[in-house]
Amino acid sequence: MRLALGGAAAVWGVSAGVPPAFAKAKHHHLGATSPTARSGSSTARSSTIAMADRPLIMLDPGHGGEDPGAIAPDGVYEKHITLASALDLRQALEQTGRYRVAMTRTRDVYIPLDDRVADAMNQNASLFLSMHCDHLPDADLRGASVFTLSNDASDTLAAGLAQAENGPATLDNPMAGTSPQVADILASLETRATKIGSQSLAYDLQSSFRGIVPLLPDPKRAANFAVLRDPSTPAALLEMGCLTNKLDETRLRSPAERTKLAQRITLAINSYFDNDAERRIAG
Ligand SMILES: [Zn+2]
Repeated sequence: MRLALGGAAAVWGVSAGVPPAFAKAKHHHLGATSPTARSGSSTARSSTIAMADRPLIMLDPGHGGEDPGAIAPDGVYEKHITLASALDLRQALEQTGRYRVAMTRTRDVYIPLDDRVADAMNQNASLFLSMHCDHLPDADLRGASVFTLSNDASDTLAAGLAQAENGPATLDNPMAGTSPQVADILASLETRATKIGSQSLAYDLQSSFRGIVPLLPDPKRAANFAVLRDPSTPAALLEMGCLTNKLDETRLRSPAERTKLAQRITLAINSYFDNDAERRIAG
């Protein structure tokens, strides 16, 4: 029970509540209901987009409960950083007035990976963002990176990471036992539209971070993550930084830095939906 995260410690483990039930809301894209949104400001949008018409963003803070995720050399748990970051991001997204936001967990509890995926599918989420912290063998490596789903890992580190994130056998994790053949089938179910959406989200995140939030030298990565396998929801897994790097760990523990990170992710998601609206208008 070590709370080593400074001023943000009050956030840990506190259930921030779940937004009102949105389960019945239909899946809308911005462009379908608000043709003027392309040139409107965020303020203008908030007054024109009814709550039920806002796209639902599903945030997935990695790990939780008995699963701490990566542990920094000084004992900070990944599961605490992912939850605090997701709560910050939820607030930033809601403040735009453009989105509804749901979370796969809002407290320190273990949720099986397939339940997280099912949550996004059942609520007809427009985007799924899984939030994690990296742990790399080289402590000098730092920066964020973004994963999209692929049968073929972009590098051996990515393959190992996906294996680790998909679950240690000691946890009650149904996806941990998925055979490579079944995993391939699940990944191949991803539709072309979903794949394009996921790639766009990954691109927008990197663009929004560049020069402001540190990025790994090669921040665009791919691996077969169980949590990205919903074939119908554009999804990405964001490694917000490396817990194995002292500078990144300090950054991720800082409430001010996490606020900055939440703002950059929000700008990326704004860009994603702006482009999505334009694609639909053009098409
Ligand atoms: Zn993780």
